[in-house]
Amino acid sequence: MNFLAFRCILCHQILSIQNAGLCSKCSRTIERYTYCGCCGMPTSNYVLHCGCCLNSRPYWDQMVVIGRYTPPLSEIIKNFKFQHQFWLDKTLARLLLLAVIDAKRQHFIRIPEIVIPVPLHHFRQWKRGYNQSHLIAKHLAKWLNIPCHSQFIQRIKRTPPQLGLNAKARKQNLRQAFKFANQRINYRSIALVDDVITTGSTLNEIAKHFRQLGVENIQVWGLARAFHT
Ligand SMILES: [Zn+2]
Ligand SMILES: [Zn+2]
Repeated sequence: MNFLAFRCILCHQILSIQNAGLCSKCSRTIERYTYCGCCGMPTSNYVLHCGCCLNSRPYWDQMVVIGRYTPPLSEIIKNFKFQHQFWLDKTLARLLLLAVIDAKRQHFIRIPEIVIPVPLHHFRQWKRGYNQSHLIAKHLAKWLNIPCHSQFIQRIKRTPPQLGLNAKARKQNLRQAFKFANQRINYRSIALVDDVITTGSTLNEIAKHFRQLGVENIQVWGLARAFHT
């Protein structure tokens, strides 16, 4: 498997930088877009809030994503999640790191004190106990020189699919899915690391908990943003 580390995962061209995973040409084909710094919706220029999230404010403050959930990014994520291509963690984490650096400039985010991976949810196809978000979060923590804490949130049950449930049932469904290990947190700024962000309802439930514990700045970092069409 090692030979893959030196070649572009998409075009198989030999790479000059070891372990980067993607050549610059393929990296440019990822659908990056200008988004609202809070909810991640597409906007015409960089804004900290759009009309959407001013109307119904999420419990988190800022969002960072690599790009839209379209090929090739969606294919890389699917291979990582479902094809056991776990070596893609470094490639994806590096893309997310670059997105975080961009967001520092465009949305004035500050590097948080810790990163927290979101426990398994839509990863039901993956064997239990293995969390891809954790792999990504660990790389980011190392590169940013901050701790990665996975013990704050525990997943206590599999969530039945959210589709077809009304808003109240959906909330109930989520509330019972997580157990928050600590009732205290000594950090003022955190980043929750997730994979694909669609409605953000899971993240919002988790962010609400940390908000109630008094965390001042809550960021959500996702590999991709998917939209309902
Ligand atoms: Zn390539
Ligand atoms: Zn917004």
